[in-house]
Amino acid sequence: SNNARSNKTAFDDVGSDYFGTQKVSINVARALKAIGYEEPTRIQADCIGPLLAGNDVVGQAHTGTGKTAAFGIPLVERSDPSQIFIQGLILVPTRELAMQVRDELVRLAQFRRLGVVACYGGQPISKQIAALKRQTHIVVGTPGRVLDHLGKGTLLLGSVRTVVLDEADEMLDIGFLPDIERILSRTPKTRQTALFSATIPSPIRRIVTRHMR
Ligand code: AMP
Repeated sequence: SNNARSNKTAFDDVGSDYFGTQKVSINVARALKAIGYEEPTRIQADCIGPLLAGNDVVGQAHTGTGKTAAFGIPLVERSDPSQIFIQGLILVPTRELAMQVRDELVRLAQFRRLGVVACYGGQPISKQIAALKRQTHIVVGTPGRVLDHLGKGTLLLGSVRTVVLDEADEMLDIGFLPDIERILSRTPKTRQTALFSATIPSPIRRIVTRHMR
């Protein structure tokens, strides 16, 4: 990975602790303790270090494996509360998952001043626009609704550092691939990209080769 997108972690500089063998900031360690996560799951042990180091990561994992925290912990660590723009974008296939992932990110960020907003279809867009106007650092969204916001100019992704494609195979099945590519084109080329999927069929492989390093 290159310098532009690497290694800006522990912005608060309040010391560190361990999650298994993985070093995390004190504030994330406190959150993990409050949630009750004592040891990393396999996908967490495999992904947190490489993501913290700024690498692009493909994670093959089903729901129930702890994949949300596998990308959520590094995202919380790498987001800077003092910089008031969207630094992390997580794309998910369904509104239920958007709410679930938002809730997990809020739990992980409970000791850091990070704003996490979910944007999904079925909820009045005005409510999300109001939420986005408050200090937002991380957005969790479904591709269709994220594109709606981009079209209205109510979501700006020009400073995003990390994009996570969660349940990529599900997003593909729903036909979100063109939407995902349009959204990625609105984010910096220097971004970090992580992709999580239960299966890695060839269309997913193509996303990896076209959009990831
Ligand atoms: P996920 O695959 O992210 O949907 O997580 C599945 C379930 O595992 C959720 O209920 C999480 O709260 C829980 N979980 C995630 N990581 C851990 C961990 N390290 N220790 C215990 N439970 C966990």
